[in-house]
Amino acid sequence: MSSIVNIQGMNKYFGDHHVLKDIDLTVDAGEVVVIIGASGSGKSTLIRCVNGLEEYQQGALEVDGQALAVNGGHQQALNIIRQEVGMVFQQFNLFPHLTVLENITLAPMKVKGIAAQQAQETAHRLLERVGIGNQAQKYPTQLSGGQQQRVAIARSLAMEPRLMLFDEPTSALDPEMIGEVLDVMRELASEGMTMMVVTHEMGFAREVAHRVVYVHEGCIVEEGKPEDVFDRPQNERTQAFLSRVL
Ligand code: ADP
Ligand code: MG
Repeated sequence: MSSIVNIQGMNKYFGDHHVLKDIDLTVDAGEVVVIIGASGSGKSTLIRCVNGLEEYQQGALEVDGQALAVNGGHQQALNIIRQEVGMVFQQFNLFPHLTVLENITLAPMKVKGIAAQQAQETAHRLLERVGIGNQAQKYPTQLSGGQQQRVAIARSLAMEPRLMLFDEPTSALDPEMIGEVLDVMRELASEGMTMMVVTHEMGFAREVAHRVVYVHEGCIVEEGKPEDVFDRPQNERTQAFLSRVL
């Protein structure tokens, strides 16, 4: 089976707040799925479930062949998924007391047992790839937001993920820095990385997504090719949302 993410009938509650409702979603290898929707609709919760940061209460969720069971209790699967799934957040979440290089080499060395020299070589290569090869010895606060987010992407890539999750990776950035982060993501997509991306950057979604998923109040109410969802939305909720943001 070529799907990396397989979600069937997933329901999630925070207490009695029903946050995700009967979610069915598959993401195939090499596919870029962009998730759009209003604030509070459940986008973050959905992708946090995919790497086990949140538990869910009904349905089934499989990530790269690992089943994440209902209500947790799947530590072994979780350990594997945490290694295979990279996540980039709105806030860059870099370790402030570590250099850029140390931020990137930490998990490969600690979690995967990779030797320091090899981890550093990989880190330098990844920093070149995200366009900041000369910043390895800096600390996060010495970098711009766009540079920090590119370090965060490089840090995820150092674990050689099978899937990358992005939760509004450009929402905390000054406008002039959004493009440099989207460029890195666009490049990753063109290299065949499997990606789930929550974003309000509709231009990026239109250009890069293979599929756009619109979430409304915890339900996927519409999904399809970007040109179909953006130019010919079928659902009136999608139409109303797009008329506000486009
Ligand atoms: P989005 O990312 O689309 O803005 P979220 O997934 O963050 O939406 O939130 C969906 C809903 O779940 C919101 O009503 C939010 O208030 C609620 N929610 C999110 N996280 C928690 C939490 N840890 N505890 C309780 N409610 C939460
Ligand atoms: Mg969110």
